[in-house]
Amino acid sequence: MTIPGNGGFDTRAIHAGQAFDPTTGAVIPPVHLTSTYVQDGIGGLRNGYEYSRGGNPTRTALESQLAAIEGGAVGLSFASGLAAEDALLRTVLAPGDHVVIGNDVYGGTHRLIRRIHGAWGVRHSTVDTSDLDQVRAAIEPGATKVLWVETPSNPLMKISDIAALAEIGREAGALVVVDNTFASPALQQPIALGAQVVVHSTTKYLGGHSDVVGGALVFAAAGDDDLVERTTFTQFAAGAVSSPFDAFLTTRGIKTLGVRMQRHSENAQAIAERLLGHPAVARVLYPGLPSHPGHALAARQMSGFGGMVSIDLAGGGAAARRFAESTELFQLAESLGGVESLVNYPSEMTHASVKGTPAEVPESIVRLSVGIEDVGDLLADIDQALARL
Ligand SMILES: *Cc1c(COP(=O)(O)O)cnc(C)c1O
Repeated sequence: MTIPGNGGFDTRAIHAGQAFDPTTGAVIPPVHLTSTYVQDGIGGLRNGYEYSRGGNPTRTALESQLAAIEGGAVGLSFASGLAAEDALLRTVLAPGDHVVIGNDVYGGTHRLIRRIHGAWGVRHSTVDTSDLDQVRAAIEPGATKVLWVETPSNPLMKISDIAALAEIGREAGALVVVDNTFASPALQQPIALGAQVVVHSTTKYLGGHSDVVGGALVFAAAGDDDLVERTTFTQFAAGAVSSPFDAFLTTRGIKTLGVRMQRHSENAQAIAERLLGHPAVARVLYPGLPSHPGHALAARQMSGFGGMVSIDLAGGGAAARRFAESTELFQLAESLGGVESLVNYPSEMTHASVKGTPAEVPESIVRLSVGIEDVGDLLADIDQALARL
């Protein structure tokens, strides 16, 4: 099917890569649960499909959809967010190269660069990417090959200026990569702001239902120094691809991303406002609050503030643990971005791996992934948990 014009975000999310099945007219294309493909004579491939590590139509459909929703040229789908990150870093970096990374990124990203790539001689500097001077100072001309940005950051919800960082990276000859997992392309379009590569844990908002683990890379331009071709080769040769069924679930989730993000944002705003000013709460970290230091920038580079809210409890680590164990509707679990609300204690859960590093998370922080349940029920749960402190 052709989309008139380029289509709006929701139209692309629903239709890109999702042409109906020509043999039956089935509106939803079949899930191609196959590992291999019959050849019409040796080397006679149908549409290039040879073996499912190299390509599978259900994965192709997801990859087209991913490129369309991020406004990029090419999408690649992987078995997890970290698999996607690793494929990109392995493609781009060599021993001795240097990475500048935010000090408040997903703990697993920091661990991947520090421990896996570090073991092969890749060096890194950890800085606050919301402070452009720190980023400029950390860049080693000629050696810094990647500038890794996560905004809003995890879990402190700092906002970094993507357009300004893209400029700094371009001048330094470093690849500017934005992890867009927290905002999702429904609320933030890093490629339009100058980023060269967008990374996702599709496990989170894109999948959206906490039922599939996956990751993605989306490239701004197809011919970027052969970057797409080389990363596609890494995907094929190292093999961390998504399965057809995982790709199907992710595609299914993406179709409702736009409406889900609207509701996530509304619910999170209401919860952030309720928490504000409560005596047990020292700070509410949510970019939708005018008091948030990144509010004006977020209002400029995002079209909504998203579903993630972090709370800095006045009673420190003990109060944070107690709050995280007191909610009922907000279930205590790692991960985020699903329709159901979750509460997480980063310093012992998602960010336990960065304890003792510059990316360590304060013990007083609790992170909420605000779901799309009825907001009154969510507010009541927050109230009863606060009352127990
Ligand atoms: C979860 C997450 C990742 C890692 O993705 P996996 O799918 O768990 O491998 C990367 N970045 C962010 C921001 C995340 O939340």
